[in-house]
Amino acid sequence: MDSKSIRKTFLNFFEEKSHKIVPSAPIVVQNDPTLMFTNAGMNQFKDFFLGNKVAESKRVADTQKCLRVSGKHNDLEEVGIDTYHHTMFEMLGNWSFGDYFKKEAIEWAWELLTGEFKLPKDRFYATIFEGDESENLDQDVEAKEFWLQFLPEDRVLNGSKKDNFWEMGDTGPCGPCSELHIDLRPQSEVDKIPGRDLVNQDHPQVVEVWNLVFIQYNRLANGTLENLPEKHVDTGMGFERLAMAIQGKQSNYDTDVFQPLIQWVAKKGGVEYGKDEKTDIAIRVISDHIRAIAFTIADGQLPSNNKAGYVIRRILRRAVRYGYTFLGFKEPFLHEMLDILVDQFDGVFPELTGQKDFIAKVIKEEELSFLRTLDNGLKKLDTITSGDSKTIEGSTAFELYDTYGFPIDLTALIARENGMEVDEAGFQKEMEVQKNRSKSAGKQTTGDWNVVHEGDETKFLGYTQTQATTNILRYREVKQKDKKQYQIVLEATPFYAESGGQVGDTGYLQIGEEKIEVVDTKKENDLIVHFVKKLPTNMQGEVKAVVNESKRRLTENNHSATHLLHAALRQVLGDHVQQKGSLVNEKILRFDFSHFAKMTEEEIAEVEKIVNQKIRENIALDEKQNVPIAEAQEMGAMALFGEKYGDFVRVITFDPQYSVELCGGTHVPRTGNIGMLKIVSEGSSAAGVRRIEAVTSVEAERFYQQKLDLIAELEEMLKHPKDLKKSVENLVKENLAAQKKLEQLNQQQAGQIKNQLKASVQKVGDKNLITYKGEFPSADNMKQVAFDLKREVDNLVLLIAADIESKPMLTVMLADELVKGGMNANEIIRKMASAIKGGGGGQPFYATAGGKDLSGLDEALKIGKEVVEGA
Ligand code: ATP
Ligand code: MG
Repeated sequence: MDSKSIRKTFLNFFEEKSHKIVPSAPIVVQNDPTLMFTNAGMNQFKDFFLGNKVAESKRVADTQKCLRVSGKHNDLEEVGIDTYHHTMFEMLGNWSFGDYFKKEAIEWAWELLTGEFKLPKDRFYATIFEGDESENLDQDVEAKEFWLQFLPEDRVLNGSKKDNFWEMGDTGPCGPCSELHIDLRPQSEVDKIPGRDLVNQDHPQVVEVWNLVFIQYNRLANGTLENLPEKHVDTGMGFERLAMAIQGKQSNYDTDVFQPLIQWVAKKGGVEYGKDEKTDIAIRVISDHIRAIAFTIADGQLPSNNKAGYVIRRILRRAVRYGYTFLGFKEPFLHEMLDILVDQFDGVFPELTGQKDFIAKVIKEEELSFLRTLDNGLKKLDTITSGDSKTIEGSTAFELYDTYGFPIDLTALIARENGMEVDEAGFQKEMEVQKNRSKSAGKQTTGDWNVVHEGDETKFLGYTQTQATTNILRYREVKQKDKKQYQIVLEATPFYAESGGQVGDTGYLQIGEEKIEVVDTKKENDLIVHFVKKLPTNMQGEVKAVVNESKRRLTENNHSATHLLHAALRQVLGDHVQQKGSLVNEKILRFDFSHFAKMTEEEIAEVEKIVNQKIRENIALDEKQNVPIAEAQEMGAMALFGEKYGDFVRVITFDPQYSVELCGGTHVPRTGNIGMLKIVSEGSSAAGVRRIEAVTSVEAERFYQQKLDLIAELEEMLKHPKDLKKSVENLVKENLAAQKKLEQLNQQQAGQIKNQLKASVQKVGDKNLITYKGEFPSADNMKQVAFDLKREVDNLVLLIAADIESKPMLTVMLADELVKGGMNANEIIRKMASAIKGGGGGQPFYATAGGKDLSGLDEALKIGKEVVEGA
C-alpha cells in the first residue's frame, strides 16, 4: 500500500466511526508562551482538554504536521543517525473530548492495524502505565484488561512514568498512556531474542508506532497534578513508521515517503544510498531536514536570528553542513528539492504547493549566506591550523560555533584532518557560560492561576465596545529578573489582545475608587490576559474595564489601511503577493509581503493612489463572525493558512470586489475614518520579502505638515521668493559659477608660486633644491605645481611645507635620476611629518603628508633640508 493510501485509510476508518476529519494546525505555534512548534497532534486541542473551550465535535481525527526540535520533545540529535526519528513528521491521531475512553481507543487501534492494514498480530506489544508512587498514581489495570482481549499476557508490558505517562510540556494536560510497539525483525532474529526484551530499548526494528494517551490531569506549575473535569482520548501514530511497517521496510527512509528525496540527494552527490554509513547519514539528514524547513516557512516562520526563526536557521545549516562535508555540495542545493516535496504533499498540505517559489527563494538565500560564512570560517580555521600549535583552543572553537555557525564536530573533524585536537572541555565551558547568560536574562517564572470567580471563557466585547463592567476570573504572578507583574483574566473584556500584528490595548481597570493601569493585553491560547503592575485591593468587586480609546481608534485606522494596502499591492504587483508579517499600532503600519523585486516609484505611487481612492469611497465595514472556512474561501478570503480547527473564522470585507480577509482584529466602521495613507518607506526585510511602512490619519497629516514646514523654512531663508524652485535653481547656478571663478584664481596663484619657486633653486651638490614654506590655495594646486616643477627642473628636490586653509600639508618631489640613485620621498616625508604631528606617504619619487600642528612647518622644512644635504 502506498503512503497516500495509508493516510487516507486511517482518516476514512475514523470518519466511519463518527469522527470529524479536521485539517492539521500550523506547525508554527502562535500565542503560546510554552511552545514554539507543534510537537503532537493534541496541541491544537489543548483548550478542549483544559475545559477552556468546548469542542464543536466530540470526536475528531487528522494528520498533524509535527516538529520535535526544541523543548521537552527534541529528537534533533538522533535524526539521520537513526532510521525512525524525524524532525518533521506526520502524526495521525484520533481524539475523544469527553466522549469515548480507553475501551474504544484500544479496540479501534487494534482493528485498524490488524484488520484494515493487516499487520501481523503476533508482532505487537502493548505497554501500560505501571503506576508511580511519587505521583500517587496506580497501575492502569483498565487498559491492561482491554489489551488482554487481543494479546497474550506476556505481550502486555508494564512501563514506567518516563515511557507511559505522556506530557506535552512542563505544564498542561497529561495522563497515563498505552503504546503499541511492533517488531519488524526477520523471523530468524525473533527466534533468537524475543521482541519483549527489545521494547523501548531503542532498537531500530522494534519501534513504537502508536501512543494512546488517556488525558485526565493537568500538570500545574508547582508540579502537582490536578484532575480534569472530563476524561479524554488523545492518540498519536507516526505516519512514517506506520508506512515502514506496512510496506515491509526496515527504515522509515526506505518507504515511498522518503525514497524520492533520498534518491535525488544520492544522485546529486554522485553516491549510492546504502553503501557507506557516513554518506547515508548525510543523505538522511538532508532528506529529513528539507521537510522541516519547507513546512515551517510555508506556515509563516522565516529563518532568523532568534527564537523559532533561529531553530529553523540551525536546522537548515545542519543540512547544508552535512551536504558540504560529506557529499561535497559547495553550492546551494536544498531549494532544488522543493519540487519533490510539493509533488508528495499535493492534495494533503496545500500550503506547500501555493508558496513553492517563495519557499525555494527563501531557502536558497539562506543557503548562500551560510555557505559564505562556512567559507569564512574555513579560512579562519586555515590560519589556525597552519600555525605551530597542536590544539584548537576552546574559545576559538566557540567563536567558530558562535559567529560562523560551525558545530563542534565540524571543527573537530577539520582539526583531525590537520593532525590537531580541539579542547572540547574548554568549548563546553564557553557554551555553559553563554547558556547561563541567556538563561538569567530571559528567565521568567509564572505562578499558577488563582481563581477569584468561577468561569473559563472570557467574552470578548472589543468589537463593539471600549468599556465594560465585569468580574475578575483569575490572576497570577509573573516574575522576570526582579520585576514582578500580574496577569488578570476577566469574565468579559473590551481589551483587544495582541494578535494578527495588532498591538494589545492599554487602559485601566477600576474597582470602586481604585484605578489599576493595564499596560498591555496579550493572548495565551484563547485566554485574554491583562498585564498590570499591581493587583487591586478588592479582587472580588465589580470591575469597570476601560480601553484607551484614542489609541485604539488610531490603531484601527492603521489596521483597516493594512487591508486596503494588501489588496492594492495584489492589484499592482500580482497575486503572488502574500502577507508575511504585519505590525499595526497607533503610530504606523508595517506590512511584510512576498515579492521579489524592489518596488519602483511608479508602483508605490500607484498603490498609494488606489488605497486613497478606497479611503475616499468611504466603504462600510462588512464584518462576518463564525464563518465556516469553506464559505470564507468562497468569498475569496485571503490568508487561509494558519487557521486551526475550532477557531472562529471572522471575515472582514471592504467591498467584496476589493478586500476580503480573515482577520480577528478591530477595524474602522468606514474607510473614510482612515483619512489618508502615505507610504514612508519600502525595502527588503528578508529574502523574497519586502517591507512597507506607512502612516495614516493624524500621522499622515503630520508627515505632510513636516514637508510643508520644511518648504516654509526654505522660503524664509531665501527671503520669500516669488518662485521657490526658480530661486533654488539660480542659487545652484550661481554657486557653480563662483566655484569656477575661484578655481581660476587658485590656478593663477599657484602659477605665480611656481614661477617664484623656479627662480629660487639652490644647488646642493648636483641636486637642484627648491623649498617653500607658505600658503597654498588647495592640495590639488600643490600637487599640480610639484609635477610641473618635476618636468621643468632637472635633478629636482622639492620640499613644500604648506598652510592650506590653516591645515599643515607637506610635499616631497624627487627627480627620477635621484630615486634611481637611492633617494626616497617616503623616507623624507616620514621624518618631516613628525614635526607637524602627522603622517603620510606615497611613492619613492612623490610623497605627501598631513598633520595637526601648523606651527611645525619651519621645523619640517629644516628636517627635510638636513636629510637632503646629508644624502
Ligand atoms: P519514541 O520513544 O520512539 O521517541 P515518543 O514516545 O517520543 O516515541 P510520542 O510522543 O508518544 O512518541 O508520539 C506518538 C507517536 O509519534 C510515536 O508512537 C511515534 O510513532 C511517532 N513519533 C514520535 N516522535 C517521532 C519522531 N521524532 N519522528 C517520527 N515519528 C515520531
Ligand atoms: Mg520521543
